[in-house]
Amino acid sequence: MSNEQTPRKSGKIIVVSAPSGCGKSTIINSILDSGQPALRFSVSATNRRPRPGEVDGVHYHFLTTEQFREAIANQQFVEWEEVYPGRFYGTLKSEIERIIDKGGNVILDIDVKGGLNVKEIYGDRAKTIFFLPPSIDELRSRLEGRGTDAPEVIDQRVGKAEFEISFADRFDERIVNDNLDTAIDRTRRVIEDFINQ
Ligand code: ADP
Ligand code: 5GP
Repeated sequence: MSNEQTPRKSGKIIVVSAPSGCGKSTIINSILDSGQPALRFSVSATNRRPRPGEVDGVHYHFLTTEQFREAIANQQFVEWEEVYPGRFYGTLKSEIERIIDKGGNVILDIDVKGGLNVKEIYGDRAKTIFFLPPSIDELRSRLEGRGTDAPEVIDQRVGKAEFEISFADRFDERIVNDNLDTAIDRTRRVIEDFINQ
């Protein structure tokens, strides 16, 4: 039962955005693996193909373009974006509800426009974090090193990075992912402070 004297410590939304290759997945997975209390990843829907090792329902709900359009028509998304031409990604209402109904807090890995839309919708219940790369050259070499994308896909992702970085000032927190351990620690602290406030 809720009590007005008891601060609400669940049902919060943490949004993480950054250009592709900045280290969002690496940082989020490290924090989730370390057993951050009551923090659960919201599995987005997308019409892109799975990368090697990606599992349907774990990394994404992989939909056909037709299924994605049906989900839009049926108002199943909190937000969705065409992040790259022909490539759709969206936050499912059912994911957020599933986590919050169990008393959890939600972490979202979504693009900059989606992240700002979620802040608009949830207001103070949401904390937005933007990861910056040390440089664009380093971003490219991380994407190349990850080895999951074709050269033209890497060009497309690096090409969009400067546009995405231009939104950084509109986020609540900005963290440069230079040294990985430092970035993980800072992110964990921001999340813990927000959940416990
Ligand atoms: P995103 O989820 O933002 O697309 P990833 O988490 O997949 O990015 O990271 C992209 C690549 O960069 C991965 O191969 C990852 O191991 C590597 N990486 C992440 N953070 C760092 C860092 N601080 N220094 C060096 N490499 C990193
Ligand atoms: P990737 O293809 O590398 O997994 O993701 C590409 C981009 O789509 C990343 O910037 C990622 O944060 C974003 N993204 C993933 N899920 C969602 C979502 O549900 N909504 C929005 N708006 N962007 C998403």
